[in-house]
Amino acid sequence: MNKRSIAVALTIAGSDSGGGAGIQTDLRTFAFHCVHGTSAITCITAQNTLGVTRVDAMPKEAIIAQIQAVVEDIGVQAAKTGMLLNQDIIAAVAEQVKVLQINNLVVDPVMVSRAGAQLIDDQAINTLRHDLIPQAAIVTPNRYEAQILSGLEITNLEEMQTAAQVIHQQLNVNAVLVKGGGMSGAGRGVDVWFDGDKLEVLKTEVVDTKNTHGTGCTLSAAIAANLALGHDLWTAVQEAKKYVTTALQYSLDIGQGQGPVGHFF
Ligand code: PLP
Repeated sequence: MNKRSIAVALTIAGSDSGGGAGIQTDLRTFAFHCVHGTSAITCITAQNTLGVTRVDAMPKEAIIAQIQAVVEDIGVQAAKTGMLLNQDIIAAVAEQVKVLQINNLVVDPVMVSRAGAQLIDDQAINTLRHDLIPQAAIVTPNRYEAQILSGLEITNLEEMQTAAQVIHQQLNVNAVLVKGGGMSGAGRGVDVWFDGDKLEVLKTEVVDTKNTHGTGCTLSAAIAANLALGHDLWTAVQEAKKYVTTALQYSLDIGQGQGPVGHFF
């Protein structure tokens, strides 16, 4: 907490012009938790509910300057990373996290869309794996990202559990949450937690909606918000999962395509 007892969190992520994912949903999630939100924008996407039409990376120096400006003056109790786009940006962010000793870091390893398309190249994945993820309090891959990080195929709940353990061990990360959002069968809407000790399956009711854009961003932002408020990691994850379930219940039927999760409840 800072002087005025306001918790502060930082999101290092991309801008989504449609307001559904990225920086926009992260700041809304922080605000809902009464956490002051700060941001370092990594890239600017032009997108709506139908898709992304353009992505412009911010210069690496601009990203470093944003992180330094926030941390050196205001200070943050927690941070999250989202879309980092390329190897240069990932390396720069990893270096700043180390130098500025940013704690309570939630890494949402945005690499593959929910539909399964790879968003960053192999070199970038390697840097994420070796330089950034080991510094995280928790990493939150979706099923496809967990496949890349573990090298295992994931088609059911058991495989999600195995992947969580493999990622924990191989990447030397404090805790792992494998998200089952896009799974079918017993893995549907179920997330798997492993912290080297407890292997837990987190279940909530499945919300039937096509408007799921921003789910992953909102989850990692809600974990960071709860960490900033002083909750332990396990509590933060459970609270964040509840928040996302409600955000899906209140998701927005806007645009012609897939709408975003909602924060107005
Ligand atoms: N960050 C940005 C800027 C995005 O545009 C997207 C997806 O379009 C994401 C993150 C990931 O979104 P989601 O939370 O739906 O996985």
